[in-house]
Amino acid sequence: MQREVLLGDEAVGLGAIHAGLSGVYGYPGTPSTEIFEFVEQRTAGSGDVHAFWSTNEKVAYEEALGMSWAGKRALVCMKHVGLNVAADAFMNSAVTGTNGGLVLAVADDPGMHSSQNEQDSRVYAQFALIPCFEPRDQQECYDMMIEAFDLSEELALPVMVRLVTRLAHSRSGVATREPRPQNALHPTREIRKWTLLPSNARVQYRHLIDKQPELLRRAEDSVHNRLNLAGRRGVIACGIANNYFLENVDDGHDLSVLSLAQYPVPAGRIRRLVEHVDDLLVLEDGYPVVENMVRGLFGLNGVRIRGRMTGEVPRTGELNPDLVRSALELPPHPTAHQPSPSLAGRPPALCKGCPHTDTFRALNEALSEFENPQVFSDIGCYTLAAFPPLEAIHSCVAMGASIGMAAGAAHAGYRPAVAAIGDSTFSHGGITPLLSAVQQGVNLKVIVLDNGTVGMTGTQRSMSTGDALDHIILGAGVAPEHLRIIEPTPANHAANVQILRDELAWDGTSVIIARRTCLEAIKRKVS
Ligand code: SF4
Repeated sequence: MQREVLLGDEAVGLGAIHAGLSGVYGYPGTPSTEIFEFVEQRTAGSGDVHAFWSTNEKVAYEEALGMSWAGKRALVCMKHVGLNVAADAFMNSAVTGTNGGLVLAVADDPGMHSSQNEQDSRVYAQFALIPCFEPRDQQECYDMMIEAFDLSEELALPVMVRLVTRLAHSRSGVATREPRPQNALHPTREIRKWTLLPSNARVQYRHLIDKQPELLRRAEDSVHNRLNLAGRRGVIACGIANNYFLENVDDGHDLSVLSLAQYPVPAGRIRRLVEHVDDLLVLEDGYPVVENMVRGLFGLNGVRIRGRMTGEVPRTGELNPDLVRSALELPPHPTAHQPSPSLAGRPPALCKGCPHTDTFRALNEALSEFENPQVFSDIGCYTLAAFPPLEAIHSCVAMGASIGMAAGAAHAGYRPAVAAIGDSTFSHGGITPLLSAVQQGVNLKVIVLDNGTVGMTGTQRSMSTGDALDHIILGAGVAPEHLRIIEPTPANHAANVQILRDELAWDGTSVIIARRTCLEAIKRKVS
């Protein structure tokens, strides 16, 4: 046995490799990016694990499903909101089932450190009727990946492993095992199972429903769901919340505790706990998934159930040891590090010299002729242009949403309808709304900020940059004379403003590509 010090994300990646992985798929997104990168780096040169970023999470999921169809083990990883993009393929893969093991590692971001919401992916696992593991620490990240691949092949279902930011991005020692061999290529021949025509889908959905008692039995018997009955006060601690709980109690505590890390929710174990206690605190880093279920099943038994829904734990935000301590009604710890009141605030900002700064300066000046102009933005470094001094963008909702929203505003008569989107986000979710806008002849101005990389998540490869980007835009039907390319530099400022003004004055769909390489990408290339 060897030991390595690993991030939670890296432990997930290594567990997958040691489980006999043949392919890793994903789209970069904090806090999940390091899963893919770890597998890519650890297997580089061996040639036996396919590792190539996908254009978006749906494509990644479908590629992983195809590898599973061929009989090999596939890992698909993404952040929580990425699962919204992949949801169509994800939900239906529970109905087709799998052949080779298929594991979805999804990293949630309670507290929204770098996300638009704090949705809890356990709800998606419940929704799709598939098993879910929620590791408590980095060792379990590793171990549960191996178990998840085995379970996926035993049940012929995709299996989810759910992480949260704090686990994904913290390190601990992990004991590793001997790597397993990869599966041989053995494509499925079960055509009906994989062809979800209604007549086949009804049969497959029935199979999925028939598997549910077995999923529940596995969770009830799981070594990961540990019940320890003691006093009349009870605690359910899910995933990483168990660590926060243990940080606050000593070995001699007399609380009755159910520590949960495998779903579906084991109602039998919860029943035993509820029948034993008068008061039950539920600790979850995410939505009150278990708390609501417990209240629904046992809320009328006279047991006081507490948690996020009753205010002992804040309804929103990331869980932490201090919040758990307060919910346990323990006196606060004297804090080790007091924040210094003299520290200046440091809001996130674009890098000094970033090409986006020059693009938005030019755009702001070109738009200054309009009264209160609003720019629909997308997700990337350029979203930071929302802050002073630029204050150049005024929305950020979902990957690719800038173009669709600007088009919708144009339908309503809003002028000027301007969207700002990065080159990678454009390939992720911007091509289809542009195609739609061109077909409708919408008066829309799309600024594509082509910095040649996925800057925000660590300069991963962009799928649509340079000539490839130009060809896609022309292929979508944008008139060649209204595809303008500018180089955003201070020296080009006046010329760039003029080009933007010309396109704003034209009644049709224009695309202005602001092309200059991300400084971080240049640094990485040089180093
Ligand atoms: S990483 Fe690149 S794109 Fe992002 S702010 Fe820095 S220079 Fe600009």
